[in-house]
Amino acid sequence: MRLLFAALALLMVSPVASTAQPAPERPIALALHGGAGTILRQNLTPEREAAVRAALEQALDAGYAVLLRGGTALDAVEATIRVLEESPHFNAGVGAVLTDAGTAELDAAVMDGRTRAAGAVSGITTVRSPIQLARRVMERSPHVMLVGAGAEEFAGQQGLERVTNDFFILPERREQLRRMQENRRTGFNALGVPDPSFVSPERFDAALAASPDLSGGMEHKFGTVGAVALDRDGNLAAGTSTGGMMGKKFGRVGDAPIIGAGTYADNATCAVSATGHGEYFIRAVVAHDIASIIRYTGLSLTQAASAVVHGSLVEMGGGGGVIAVDPQGRVTMPFNTPGMYRAAIDGAGNRTVAIFRD
Ligand code: ASP
Repeated sequence: MRLLFAALALLMVSPVASTAQPAPERPIALALHGGAGTILRQNLTPEREAAVRAALEQALDAGYAVLLRGGTALDAVEATIRVLEESPHFNAGVGAVLTDAGTAELDAAVMDGRTRAAGAVSGITTVRSPIQLARRVMERSPHVMLVGAGAEEFAGQQGLERVTNDFFILPERREQLRRMQENRRTGFNALGVPDPSFVSPERFDAALAASPDLSGGMEHKFGTVGAVALDRDGNLAAGTSTGGMMGKKFGRVGDAPIIGAGTYADNATCAVSATGHGEYFIRAVVAHDIASIIRYTGLSLTQAASAVVHGSLVEMGGGGGVIAVDPQGRVTMPFNTPGMYRAAIDGAGNRTVAIFRD
């Protein structure tokens, strides 16, 4: 017996025994969003809430499965976003919002935190998966960003699936656009807020007086989709895909495809994907600012993301939120709007699927 203990003790201190210990698994993590905005419990029917949650779960599972089987963060981000692009509940791919000309113009970007390679597309009208096209730009072209006709031609050369623009457009989006254009005629801006720049001062005053409901009956929702991931090799990636803002001028480019604004990834700091009023996110260079705060101040991911979303963005008047993950698998998902569709599994395995603030 004593001999046995001695042998066991030896085994425990011998180098052979210690190298035989399985290495602790490195963390993997995934977070996604389906847009932020005035998402209020009272405006969401139980059926719709259940459908949105199911879509978030499905996208989360699709991306996480890639990480679980040892796939790359990039593959996980693309797999997650492709599920969300096909879901009618979000403003990307099918269900995208419309330009003031009544068309769907899609933007997307992806970034590899390992190499800081990036690919982005804007003004896409016939490519079924804009995030897939953004990745092709990154991996199979010498460029970072392609727009409009050139991007569509490149998609053709790459053999990506094409659809008619109607494929993306749902009847309820046409109705939203119609209401927004009506609001604009009577004095409201693209966000449903009374705005004198659209009409004469008299009509603006009349609109203001006539409507205590500043939204003009519209829900302000930024339904962009995005994902960030950490894979087993410690690599980060981020991606974002969107139809932009309802009633935008055709040709408008939002923050989603602007590297550093709506999308950014760097293994040294974090991966970020944003949703919100893109003009503010571009001017605040949101995603890169979060990474820079971490890099230059040593603040944590949560502190840095919160400083931007609840600090500089609010000061500028920009509504929205971000999802972010760091190399340790920590996830943060701050937003300054009433709600944000979001889901995550962090490096410790904690699973979250949420819509509202609470
Ligand atoms: N950030 C997007 C844009 O401005 C909108 C959104 O988040 O839904 O294009």
